[in-house]
Formats: sequence, structure tokens, C-alpha cells
Amino acid sequence: MEDSEFSMNQVELQHFKQLIMAKKVQVSQDMEEFQRVSRSEEAQESSEDRSAYSLHMADRGTDAMEREKNMLFAQREGDYLDYLEEALQRIEAGTYGVCRTCKGAIGRARLEAVPTATQCIDCKKKEGDSSQP
Ligand SMILES: [Zn+2]
Repeated sequence: MEDSEFSMNQVELQHFKQLIMAKKVQVSQDMEEFQRVSRSEEAQESSEDRSAYSLHMADRGTDAMEREKNMLFAQREGDYLDYLEEALQRIEAGTYGVCRTCKGAIGRARLEAVPTATQCIDCKKKEGDSSQP
């Protein structure tokens, strides 16, 4: 077991697979809920009296901002789903838990907190890249 620090055993991989699958379900549900809510908001809006609506022109800016925020939220959740999907692929490929920069172990504690992590905490800090987990 000399390489145990770098490669995870099957039990650990299964553990993280379960963790990631559970998160995928959670994010999918969040997105469905989000889509359901934004659809019902649109329906409500279009049923409003047009003349009454035009009186509230001042509010339209905030509506647009709200919508943009929602779009960003949906985008972020979508990105996260991609990361989760990639993490599952790494589990299948046997490269899960290996830092993509230094090829060292990401570490179980970090993966537990961030199952989509592709870098160990040291490389992450050095690169200072916040776009990827
Ligand atoms: Zn590293």
C-alpha cells in the first residue's frame, strides 16, 4: 500500500460517488424549482393590466436586474452540474482525488468539503483561480 496516499481505495471512491450523485440530484431539484418559479412569475406578469404595468416603469429596471441575477444563478448551477459530472468521470477514470497541477493527492478532507475539487489546496492558493473549485 505504498501509493495509498495518492490513490483512493474502492470504498472511498464509492463514498465520493454517492456524495456527488446526491449533490447532482439536489442541484437538479433546485434548478427545476427555480424554473418553476420563474415560469409562474412570467405568467403572472403577462396577465397584468398593461396600462397599470406602464405606471410602474420605474420598477422595470429592478425587474431586469432581478432577471439577470436569476440567469446568473441558473448559469452557476448549470456549471456546478458540469463540475459534478466531470468529477464522476474522474472517478470512473481513476483520476479522482489527484491534483491536476502537481499530481499529488487533493486530500480526503478537502474533497469531503469540495467534492468537485481538481486541485489540492496548495496549488489552488498559488493559482488563485476562483472560477474553478
Ligand atoms: Zn497540487
